[in-house]
Amino acid sequence: MIKPPPLRNDCFALPAGTHWTPVDEALASLRSRLSPVTAAEVLPLDRALGRVLAADVTALRSNPPLPNTAVDGYGFAGPIAEGPQILPLIQGRAAAGIPFDGIVPAGSALRMLTGAPLPQGVDTVILEEDVNCDGSQIAFHGPLKRGANARRAGEDVSALDVVFAKGRVVTPADLALAAATGLSQLQVRQQLRVGVLSTGDELVEVGQEAGHGQIYDANRPMLLALLGQMGFSAVDLGQVGDNRDALEARLDSAAADVDVIVTSGGASAGDEDHVSALLTEKGAIQHWRIALKPGRPLALGMWQGTPIFGLPGNPVAALICTLIFARPALGVMAGAGWAEPQGFEVPAGFEKRKKPGRREYLRARIRQGRVETFASEGSGRISGLSWAEGLVELGDGAAEIAQGDLVRYYPYGSFIL
Ligand code: AMP
Ligand code: MG
Repeated sequence: MIKPPPLRNDCFALPAGTHWTPVDEALASLRSRLSPVTAAEVLPLDRALGRVLAADVTALRSNPPLPNTAVDGYGFAGPIAEGPQILPLIQGRAAAGIPFDGIVPAGSALRMLTGAPLPQGVDTVILEEDVNCDGSQIAFHGPLKRGANARRAGEDVSALDVVFAKGRVVTPADLALAAATGLSQLQVRQQLRVGVLSTGDELVEVGQEAGHGQIYDANRPMLLALLGQMGFSAVDLGQVGDNRDALEARLDSAAADVDVIVTSGGASAGDEDHVSALLTEKGAIQHWRIALKPGRPLALGMWQGTPIFGLPGNPVAALICTLIFARPALGVMAGAGWAEPQGFEVPAGFEKRKKPGRREYLRARIRQGRVETFASEGSGRISGLSWAEGLVELGDGAAEIAQGDLVRYYPYGSFIL
C-alpha cells in the first residue's frame, strides 16, 4: 500500500546538502560574466533621451562662452569702494544676443540686461533694484567686489572638458548641457533588444475568453512595460504552452531577433517546467537556486549565443527577479554598467520575524514617514505588487523587526535605469 513519506524534521528548512546561492554571490557572478553587446550609433540630441552613451563626451564650447551679466542692471569696472557712489552713464545698452561693441571708460557705467556679454571695460555689475537712475547718471551704495553679478567665461564648463562619461544614460538635463556646450549629436548605443516570452498551458492572451482552468497572462504586459521603462527595447515574443517543440522553435526564432530573452514560468524542475528542461537537455543552463524570497527558481542559460533569463511564473517573483537580477545584468549588456539601486533607511511601520538563510523582499510603500508592507506575502498576490510603491529588503540573516526599527526601502523608481 502506498503511503505518504514521513515528515522530516527539517521540512521547513532550506533543503539540506544543496547549496543556496546568496543573492550577493549570485549578483557578483552575473556581473563578472557579462559585457556590453550593443553597437554604437550617432543620434541627434532630440532622439538621444534615455540612450546609453557609447563614449566619453567632450564639450565643444565653454558654458558660458563669454563673460556676461547675471542680472539686469548697470556694468562698470570694479571694485567699488564703500560709501555713496555716482557714475555717469554712457550711451547705449548691452543685452543678451546684442552685445555692446564699444569700450566703457573707467569711472562710467553702461545699462546691461541679463545674459549680455560684458563689454570691454566692464567686469562688475550692480543690480538695477539697488540703483537710482536719472537717465544720465546712476547713484548707489558701495562697496562692490570686482566681478560681482558677473559670470566668468567657462565658469560652468570649459571647452574640451569631459561633460559625460561613457555608459551614462542620457537625461533631459543632459540634453541641456549637450546643447549649451555646442553638441548637436551624441554617440550612443543601440537599445538592448529584450524579448519577453510567457510559458504555460494555463495562459490566455489578454482580450480573449478565459476557459475553465485558464488564467490571463499577467507577466507579459508587466515585463514588457517594465523593460521599456528601463530603457530597453522590449520585444513581445508572445506565449507558448508547456510543449518542448513549440518552445524550442520559439527560442530559435527569438535568438535570431533579440539580444536577450526573458521567459516566465517553467523555470523550476517540475514535469511541466519546459524552459528548464529544454535548456538542460541542450546543455545550456545554469540553475540558480538563489536564497531569495520571493524568487526562486531562476534559470539562466544561453540559447544559440543569446542569453536567457528564465524567471519564475509567479508574477510577484517574476517582478522581483527582474528588478534584482535581470535589471543590473541587462544594464551591463546595454553598456550602462552595473547599477546598484539606491535604497534608504526608513522606520518600519510593521513587525516581522525572519529566519536566517535567505534574503527577502517585501512589497512596501511609505506613509507618514514609515514603511508599511502588504498584508500578504503570497507570491501570487498581484494586487500587492500594484499596491506597493517599492520593496523592503531584509538581509540574509535572521531578523526581528519591531515598529520603528530602521529597514532598507527601495522605491520602484530606483530600479529604473
Ligand atoms: P511556473 O513557474 O510555471 O511553475 O508557474 C508558477 C505560477 O505562476 C503558476 O501558478 C502559474 O500559473 C503562474 N504563472 C505562470 N506564468 C504566468 C503568467 N504569465 N501570468 C500569470 N501567472 C503566471
Ligand atoms: Mg508553468
